[in-house]
Amino acid sequence: MARIQDFDGMQYCRDGTAAEKQDYAYFNQQYATSTYEIDHNMCPNLIVQPKRDEDVIQTVNWARDNKVAIAIKSGGHQYSGASSTSGKNIQVDLSNTYKDLMVLDTQDPTGQDKALVYVGVSNQIKDFNAYLKHNQLFVPTGQCAYVCVGGHGQTGGYGQLGRSFGLFGDHIRIIRMVCHDGIIRDISKSKDPELFYAILGGSPGNFGIITHYIVEVYQAKSYLGTVSGPNGFKGPHGIKGLWIYSPEILKSLLTAVAQMADDSNVPRGFDLCVSLLSIDFPITILFPTLKNAGEWERIQDKIKGALADQFLEWLNGSFPAVIVLYAQWCPTSKDDKYDETVDEWFNKFRNLKGFFKNETLIIHELEEDMSQMTGRWIFPKQREFDLPYVKRTYSTNSRTLEKDGWVDDVVGRIDLIYNPHHFLHSNPGDKEYEVFTHCKLSVQIQCYGGENSRFYLNKDNGTSYSWRDSSVVQTLDCFHDPGVKYKQYAERWQAKNDSIMVGPSSSFSKQDRRLLWGSYGDWDLGKREIWEYYYEDADKYQKLGKARDKADPNGTFTANPFAVLAFATSDV
Ligand SMILES: Cc1cc2nc3c(=O)[nH]c(=O)nc-3n(C[C@H](O)[C@H](O)[C@H](O)COP(=O)(O)OP(=O)(O)OC[C@H]3O[C@@H](n4cnc5c(N)ncnc54)[C@H](O)[C@@H]3O)c2cc1C
Repeated sequence: MARIQDFDGMQYCRDGTAAEKQDYAYFNQQYATSTYEIDHNMCPNLIVQPKRDEDVIQTVNWARDNKVAIAIKSGGHQYSGASSTSGKNIQVDLSNTYKDLMVLDTQDPTGQDKALVYVGVSNQIKDFNAYLKHNQLFVPTGQCAYVCVGGHGQTGGYGQLGRSFGLFGDHIRIIRMVCHDGIIRDISKSKDPELFYAILGGSPGNFGIITHYIVEVYQAKSYLGTVSGPNGFKGPHGIKGLWIYSPEILKSLLTAVAQMADDSNVPRGFDLCVSLLSIDFPITILFPTLKNAGEWERIQDKIKGALADQFLEWLNGSFPAVIVLYAQWCPTSKDDKYDETVDEWFNKFRNLKGFFKNETLIIHELEEDMSQMTGRWIFPKQREFDLPYVKRTYSTNSRTLEKDGWVDDVVGRIDLIYNPHHFLHSNPGDKEYEVFTHCKLSVQIQCYGGENSRFYLNKDNGTSYSWRDSSVVQTLDCFHDPGVKYKQYAERWQAKNDSIMVGPSSSFSKQDRRLLWGSYGDWDLGKREIWEYYYEDADKYQKLGKARDKADPNGTFTANPFAVLAFATSDV
C-alpha cells in the first residue's frame, strides 16, 4: 500500500481496509465524478492532503523518485475530471492547504488605483471576493462561488467583468510554485516569460504545484461615477433581472447579446450575461429578497398568472424554469458618464416589464461600488443540479450573429427542453415529454468582444489564454437523470447543438473553439484533432510543449491525457 513517509497531512489509500476505503470514497468526490468517474478513471492510488509546504515538497520528491504522476486538485471543478488520475498515480488535494489572504504592503508600485493581494490557491471565489469587498477592492472572476483560485488562475476566470476588466488570470503577477525538483520558485513575466505564459492559459496542472498567486486588483474608489445622469444614477450601475422562461423574453435578451457582440465599437464599460436555469432551482440563493414572505407571495401570484394550472399542479411548489440577466456598466475612465446612452441600454431590459407583466419577476437596480457589485454576479451553489451532465461551452468570433440567425437557433434548441408545452401537449413515453421531465439545463451566455474590450486588448499581456478575439462564449450544460437512457437524451440534444453551433454554415461559429475551463468530449490534448479546438495554432502548441518539457522533465505532473505534450516527444 503506497504511503508517503514523513508527511504530516492525511493520506487516503484506494486499496486500504474497509474503513479506509470509506474515507477514500468520501474524499474522492469532485464535480466531474458524476459524469467521468468511470469513463476517465478518476481513482488515484492515493489521495494526499498536505498541511504545509514541506508536505507538498515531500510529495513531489516521493512521486519523482517512485516514477508516479501527481494530479493536483484545489477546488475540484475541472469539468473533464483533469484534477484526478488513476493507476499508481496520486492526487494532491489542496482544498484546505493554502487559504492565505493578504493585501501586500508595497511602496505602491502599481499606482493608486491598484493593490497587490497574496492569495492561496485553496481560496474559493466567494471567500476571495468577500475578502476583497472588505478591503473595497475588486478583480474579475468567473461566476461559480466554489471554484478555487488554484485552477481558476490557470484556466482564466471568465465572467461578468470580462469586457470591462478582462480575465482573473490577466491580473496574476507572480506564481509561487513547487517545481519538479522540489524547489519553490516565484515565477513572473519578467523572470521567466515562457513558463509564466504557459501556466496562465496553457495546460492546467502540468507545470508544478502552485501554492499562491500575487494578484493585482483594483481599488473600488477609483471606479466611481462623478456626475448624476438619468434617474440620478452615476454608476457603477447594474441590473439583475429574473423572468419566468418564455422564448419571447429569451429572444429579446439574446438579441441584445447579439447586437452587442456584432458592434465592435461598444465602449469598454458594458458587460452582459444571460443565464437560464431549469425547474427546481432554489432561486432564493440567487435572489435573497425572495426570502421575504410578502415578496415570495407577490412572485407566486405572478407565476400563477403566467403558467397553466395543470403545469402548476405538476410543479407542486417547485420554482419554474427562469431566465436571469446580469447587466453592468462601470465608468472606466474620467470621461465615462452615466448618460442617456447608458440609460437607454439598461432600458432595453427594464422595458420588458411592460410587455411581459407576469413573467417579469424581479428587476433589481444596483447602484454601488464595484467591490460590492462583483459579489452580485457570483453563483452561490456547489453545482447547478445534483445530476450527471453532458457539457458544452462554445466560443465564436462572429460579428454577424444577429444577421445569421443565431438567436433563433439557440432559442429553438433551449426551447426543446424548457418549454412547458412539451409537458402539456405530449404524454409519458413521447420523446418531448421524456426529455422535458428527465433533463435540466444550465445556460450562460456572455459577451466578451469588441475593440474596446479588455478581454481582447489583454491578448498580448504575456498569458496564453486562447481565442482572445471571441465575441460571445455560450455554455449549454444539459443535466440528466442517472441512467443510460437519459444520458442518451442529453447526448443527442448536444450532438444536434454541435451541428448547429459549429461548422461552415453555422450561425454561431465556423470553427470549433473550446476553452480549457469548459472542456468536454475527448480530453486527450496530445491529439492534434483535439488540441486544435483549444489552441489557435501549432506555434502556440509547440511553445507550450517546450515549456512543459522544461518544467516537467520526469512526467511527474502528467497524470492524465488533459495535458499538452512535452515538446521533445510531440508530433506537431
Ligand atoms: C459549476 C461550475 C461553474 C463554473 N463557472 C466558471 C465561470 O463562470 N468562469 C470560468 O472561467 N470558469 C468556470 N468554471 C470552470 C473553473 O473555473 C475551472 O475548471 C477551474 O480551473 C477550476 O479550478 P479548481 O481549482 O476549482 O478546480 P480543479 O479541478 O482542482 O483544478 C482545475 C485544473 O487546474 C489544476 N490545478 C488546480 N489547482 C492547482 C494548483 N494548485 N497547482 C497546479 N495546478 C492546479 C488541476 O490539476 C486541473 O487541471 C466553472 C466550473 C464549474 C464546475
